[in-house]
Amino acid sequence: MERSGNILVLAEMVENGKAASISIELLGLGRTLADCLGTGLSAVIMGDEASEAGGELARHGAEEVLCLHHPRLKAYHPELYQQAMLGMLRSSPPRVLLAGHTALGQDLLPRLAFSLSCGLVTDCVGARVEGGEVLFTRPVYGGNALATQRVTTAMAMATVRARVGEAPPPSEKAGEVRTLGVDLPDPVRLEVTGRETLEYRECPLEEAPVVVSGGRGMGGEEGFSQLRELASLLGGAVGASRPPVDAGWAPTTCQVGITGKVVAPDLYIAVAISGSTQHLSGMSEAGKIVAINKDPDAYIFKVSDYGVVGDWKQVLPSFTAALREMLKE
Ligand SMILES: Cc1cc2nc3c(=O)[nH]c(=O)nc-3n(C[C@H](O)[C@H](O)[C@H](O)COP(=O)(O)OP(=O)(O)OC[C@H]3O[C@@H](n4cnc5c(N)ncnc54)[C@H](O)[C@@H]3O)c2cc1C
Repeated sequence: MERSGNILVLAEMVENGKAASISIELLGLGRTLADCLGTGLSAVIMGDEASEAGGELARHGAEEVLCLHHPRLKAYHPELYQQAMLGMLRSSPPRVLLAGHTALGQDLLPRLAFSLSCGLVTDCVGARVEGGEVLFTRPVYGGNALATQRVTTAMAMATVRARVGEAPPPSEKAGEVRTLGVDLPDPVRLEVTGRETLEYRECPLEEAPVVVSGGRGMGGEEGFSQLRELASLLGGAVGASRPPVDAGWAPTTCQVGITGKVVAPDLYIAVAISGSTQHLSGMSEAGKIVAINKDPDAYIFKVSDYGVVGDWKQVLPSFTAALREMLKE
């Protein structure tokens, strides 16, 4: 298959060896772009055990999946992943390289774009083809406006938020999966001396269907344990605005917003959060927003679908208890 000029999705694996849901969603977006441009859709995935995830990508619309294989690609290493990708991108440059706006995508794509002197649009919430050109949409001014950008170099790169693309359903007719060995430089300039798994990994925040977030008005760590209880009943994850993270009530991995994570759950429950633009830019794509705040004039009520004016210490326990009863039934 001719890979040059294609739409290429840089896919990621989750811990159980499956393809990350954002990567499957990117195949949906990639398919739309590829059909409009009349090109093909490929995917690339790295790791020493990428074949299962590769098969999944092939069933979800990738015409060809390249699994770049090397024992040193087992876990993310910026230089090694960069080298592995550069060889492939130089030999068959795609028209567009799409990656998730994830920790990996945000770290790797700028490195690749710099090495190849090619244009990169980050944090996209949309991409479309107009007049044969790919146009990318991204929030600007703290999420108060959307900018449309085009890349003027032959190859374009973009990191895309979760839930922007629609995951294509699996198909009987799968694309081709190829495993390629890669040459990696030795020695490298950066040595990974340890990896630490951060707390709150029950449900990755960016992928959670429900996010229950707390703000400064939670008043301390104790409030966050109540949020965790509610989040676990709803099968979701706990988020936070910046002040609780700065105060150490919640880990940095929980921060939602312009300098935190971007989430797009079906349901976002904002508890004791005022609704600053910096926070809203991380959760404005949520399906439904519910706010609990004791200040009836809090800005969060202007962007929420449902609002409860009251002290969370009264509202939250009764809400959680009622939900527990409902779930029992
Ligand atoms: C460069 C920069 C980057 C930033 N990045 C981020 C970011 O990524 N994410 C982020 O969130 N912020 C970010 N901020 C901070 C942001 O500007 C706001 O300060 C922050 O979002 C406010 O958080 P908050 O709503 O929890 O707190 P506050 O604005 O203090 O609001 C607390 C709310 O809690 C309510 N409340 C108090 N007690 C109760 C109670 N008992 N029951 C119910 N409600 C109660 C109050 O009425 C109030 O509305 C950034 C700021 C800067 C300058």
